[in-house]
Amino acid sequence: MPESAAAPYERWLSIAVEEAETGRDEGGVPIGAALIGADGRVLGRGHNRRVQDGDPSAHGETAAFRAAGRQRSYAGTTMVTTLSPCWYCSGLVRQFGISRVVIGEARTFHGGHDWLAENGVEVVLLDDARCVGLMTDFIAARPELWFEDIGQDGAE
Ligand SMILES: [Zn+2]
Repeated sequence: MPESAAAPYERWLSIAVEEAETGRDEGGVPIGAALIGADGRVLGRGHNRRVQDGDPSAHGETAAFRAAGRQRSYAGTTMVTTLSPCWYCSGLVRQFGISRVVIGEARTFHGGHDWLAENGVEVVLLDDARCVGLMTDFIAARPELWFEDIGQDGAE
């Protein structure tokens, strides 16, 4: 059987899932990401480090983006992330002209991916059970940490 069109996306998502699992095992927020070059090469990968570094700006996507270093152009690059990107990370995608966002799931958090799609970014939503499980377990175990991460007080 020929490789399905979604196959590279699944491979890339597995890198983001590995990062999310590392973050979980470190006691952090289990969100991981990778920036993939136009040629399919992994430019950078990372995970949310809010807890580990005491840094609320260290999201999975920003960690992957920073790990990739300076790139001449982001045309043709893909940000793959385990969870629908928040506004901050959606802004990063548009600021630098990242062409595509591959998302593990948007069930537990609906970020800015509709806005990205409306503004010319190719959005691929995989609805991956591993990603849903990572977030469902985390939100059940550490609700206060999750509401802190998404900038809500949890009281609403
Ligand atoms: Zn974010």
